[in-house]
Amino acid sequence: MSDSTDHSRDTILDWVEAHRTEVTSLTQSLVRFPSENKPPHGKEKDCQMFVADFLRDIGCQMDIFTPPEAEGLTEHPAYWPNHEYTDRPNVVGVLTSRPGGERGPNGKKSLLFSGHVDVVPVVGEGQFGWWDGTVEDGKLYGRGSNDMKGGIAAYLMAARCVRELGLELKGDLILETVVDEEFGGANGTLACRLRGYNADIAINPEPNNMLISPSHRGGQQFRLFVTAEGVGMGCGETELRDPVIALGHILVALDKYNTERNARPKPRGFENDVFPLMPFVLRAGELLPWGTGEAIPEEAWFEFWIEIPPGVTEDELRSELNEVVEKTTEVTPALQKVSTRWELRTRFLPGSTMSEDHPVFKLLARNLESLTGQPPSHEPAPFACDGFMFNLHSPTPVVIFGPQGGNAHARDEWVDVEDLITLTKTYALTIADWLT
Ligand SMILES: [Zn+2]
Repeated sequence: MSDSTDHSRDTILDWVEAHRTEVTSLTQSLVRFPSENKPPHGKEKDCQMFVADFLRDIGCQMDIFTPPEAEGLTEHPAYWPNHEYTDRPNVVGVLTSRPGGERGPNGKKSLLFSGHVDVVPVVGEGQFGWWDGTVEDGKLYGRGSNDMKGGIAAYLMAARCVRELGLELKGDLILETVVDEEFGGANGTLACRLRGYNADIAINPEPNNMLISPSHRGGQQFRLFVTAEGVGMGCGETELRDPVIALGHILVALDKYNTERNARPKPRGFENDVFPLMPFVLRAGELLPWGTGEAIPEEAWFEFWIEIPPGVTEDELRSELNEVVEKTTEVTPALQKVSTRWELRTRFLPGSTMSEDHPVFKLLARNLESLTGQPPSHEPAPFACDGFMFNLHSPTPVVIFGPQGGNAHARDEWVDVEDLITLTKTYALTIADWLT
């Protein structure tokens, strides 16, 4: 590793300062593509072609392919089936200094940036337009601004910076944007790994509030149905079967379970984390056209997202959740008269961790500190993401380092514009340190 000399360091910082407005306008351009992921489909293509043009313009060797075109994808144990990938290309650009531009053999230094361009669909209206990219008081608003087009703009601009400054790369700089990350997709990221785009390390700008995170949480989304067929008004039944009351008991039990599991010892780095169990949807019964309900509903259900630390397996999580329902049923008459059924709403997303001793991890921390004057925090990223595809299913470890923002997956999502400048600088300095 060579330190960016004072000369190239100043040149990089000056370049980014001179291109501030372009970091913002590139983020706005990305936000303006409504690249919604609506499983099993997604509308990432226009955004991806825009990224491909950017990468081509800065001299990258390009590879554009849909996930199923990556050999071995559908047979891979981490592949999540039943998603549709027509018109959903991954985009990879490689900058290399070698003649001919072919990718190098293993053993050569390499650095990879990876982000997803899909966004969760919009619902309702906020104060700011979903796809406008309005900037106000240092915040850039719009769907995907925070999760995670701002971070993507930062690494695209960092690559353009080293290119325009003519820094000679002694290794490969790989810049990818993938489809289908939201809703636990992650097949886009897996496809890039299987396509052979691996490196000494990957940097993923999921919005973790400027932490340099060696680890991230996992999670999964479930629906639990409670049914009592033909219950009607329960006429003739001595004890009413009521799915709503039964579900109420389960909700209380799951909430108690969540408190108990959070009191257990947690893995290193996660000691202070609280892993939520979040109900997203609760449904039972029906309002009839004349505005009332008229009978006990046959079915009640609830959908929730639950987060876990690295090391928890899918079997462990599911058997604990099952046990909560079984044990509650044993002691609750209201539950003994109904049936319950689970449905998976997302794939299982494991948490994962990389080593903080990795030299690029240290470079990122040093470069960020040189800009902020504060030692960066290495707390885990407080969310599940596709980082596990790197750490658990490829030779490439991943560090998560993205901007501060808010309202991800909600109205008036925003990203901090100044953070995007700091990220662009930190990324460019780190590229220079590792690859030149
Ligand atoms: Zn994201």
